[in-house]
This record gives sequence, C-alpha cells and structure tokens, in this order.
Amino acid sequence: MNLLNEKIDKAKTICILGHINPDGDCIGSTLGLYNYIKNKYADTKIVKVYLEEASKKFDILQGFDKISHDLNDAIEYDLCIVCDCASKDRIKDFSIYLENAKDVFIIDHHATNNLSYKDFIIDKNSPATSELVYENIEKEYIDKKVSECLYIGIAHDTGVFRYSSTTKRTMQIASELMDKGIDFTSLLDQTMFIQSFEQKKAYSIVIERAKFLCSGKVLFSYLNDEDLETINCNKKNIDFIVSNLRETENIKIAAFAYEIGKNIYKISLRSNGEIIDLSKFVVEYGGGGHKKAAGFTLKMKIEEIEKLLNEELAKIV
Ligand code: 5GP
Ligand code: MN
Repeated sequence: MNLLNEKIDKAKTICILGHINPDGDCIGSTLGLYNYIKNKYADTKIVKVYLEEASKKFDILQGFDKISHDLNDAIEYDLCIVCDCASKDRIKDFSIYLENAKDVFIIDHHATNNLSYKDFIIDKNSPATSELVYENIEKEYIDKKVSECLYIGIAHDTGVFRYSSTTKRTMQIASELMDKGIDFTSLLDQTMFIQSFEQKKAYSIVIERAKFLCSGKVLFSYLNDEDLETINCNKKNIDFIVSNLRETENIKIAAFAYEIGKNIYKISLRSNGEIIDLSKFVVEYGGGGHKKAAGFTLKMKIEEIEKLLNEELAKIV
C-alpha cells in the first residue's frame, strides 16, 4: 500500500479540495478519488468534496450533485486531500478545511505549486492530476464511474490527447479507462465540444474585437460583465475561449481576459511551441499554471491590461 492509500485507510473522515473555478481536471481528479474511496470503503468513511460551483456540463459524473459548497461544516477532518491546486489562495474559502484537518496530502501537476506539506505527489511533467490519481490508487476499485471522472480529467488537460504533455503512458491509461466501458464520445461531447448558442455568441464577440499585439505574435481579446449579461452567457462556460484563440495561425501566445469584478480581470494565457514558459511570466503577477497554460488576475481597466500585455509579453515572445 502506498502512502496515499495508507492515509486514506487510516482516516475515518476525509475531505477533498480543488481549485477555484474548477475545470475538467479539477473535477475529474476530485470526483475520481471520491468515487474510488466510496468503492473501496462503501459507507464506512465520511468523504466529502468541497468545490466552488462548477459548470453543469460535468453533471454526468457520479458524485457531481454531492459536491458541497458549504463553508460551515463543523468537521475537523482526519485527512484533507488537495487535488490540482498549486496554492492556498486558489483553494480560497475552503482552505478552512485544509487548515483544520489533522493530516494533509497534496496531489498536483502544477510547476508553480507552493503548498508546503510533508506528504505529496507533485509531478510537473504529468499532463493531469487525474493521471496522477490513476497511477496512485488501487486498480481493483477503479470501476466505470471512477474511469469516467479520470478520463474527463486527462482529456481536458491534454486537449483530448493533443498537447505535448501527452505521453505513451497517458494513452495506455486512457485505453485502460476505456476498457471499463465508458462512453467517451458522450463524455467529450458533453463536457468539451457541444456548446450552447450563447457560448458561440460569446466567441463571436471575442473574435470581433480581437487584436494582434507584439507585432502580431500575441492575439488578445476580452469579455466584460456587460457582454456576458447582454448575451446571457455564464462565466463558468467561457473556459474554452482561450484554447480556441491559441489555434490561430502564426501566433505565439493567445491572451484572453474576462471580468470577474469591477475592473478586475482574470487573464488566461496559452502558448504555441516549446520555447516560452508562461508559468514563469505569470508568477511575476501572482498567478500560476504550466509552461503552456497559465493565468493571473489584474485589477485595472481593460485598455491598461492590453497595454501591459503588449509591453511585457513582447519581452518573452
Ligand atoms: P486557466 O487559464 O484555464 O484559468 O488556467 C490555466 C492554468 O493556470 C491552470 O492550470 C490553472 O490552474 C492555472 N492558473 C490560472 N490562473 C491562476 C492563478 O491566478 N493562480 C495560480 N496559482 N494558477 C492559476
Ligand atoms: Mn490540472
């Protein structure tokens, strides 16, 4: 039994946390682990996943409806497992469960992870936290439900096995998950490809106002609160935009900003090629992420953000 399983085995109460604005890998890894523990121990342990409200597109995953958003559970958990999250500020309010827990285990693949706990599996070369979960749990308890979660997590963080982080092992794992009878076509369609018409409209606004910065090497665009209100599109459903922008000829970086508060913008960056390290760039601004996919937050007007990106990204492209 490895250390993770030993800790799960010993704990009577377990909470599982992830990052704010949970994406496919965050939900896949946390629910994958949740379903695994349920399979292995039935109802002999209390297991709870705490995450911010996520996009409803993930409701096909077992346990999605059990995800708690409650900050007032008066439980000091025996074990807190943190998945796919590189820093405390990204766990946000749920970090009370981390601080109060008797024991902590971190599972992550972010290059920028700064959670300093003694027990962890952190591998920045792994394409997804869901892959790390797969590698570290006992295979006999991986059923169809667990497989669906982990497949979604890996597929989302590898852009459906296209990104350079994908390895031969990733494909082997995907095939082992497929062996459990998952309907991968529906899983991918529902969580990645089929979009609401509002999402299509959001993308059309983004393209309409997109600008090339840094002599054409950076493609930049944004959405503000007013845009999203006008087209009635939920902020939880615009995470696809920056990946689509990246797939533009001749650019090195795609930068997409969206408003998360009055003149506060979340900025997502994606890069093409092997040379640029975005995680290094965003750390300067208190952000984090990976070499080719990273994000940060700026409190300034969108015109100022455009100017800053034009000047600062020019230094790395
Ligand atoms: P996205 O641009 O899709 O929000 O995030 C890309 C990657 O960067 C993800 O792995 C995400 O966890 C990470 N990331 C995005 N924004 C932040 C941030 O503000 N802080 C940290 N630490 N990581 C971020
Ligand atoms: Mn991830």
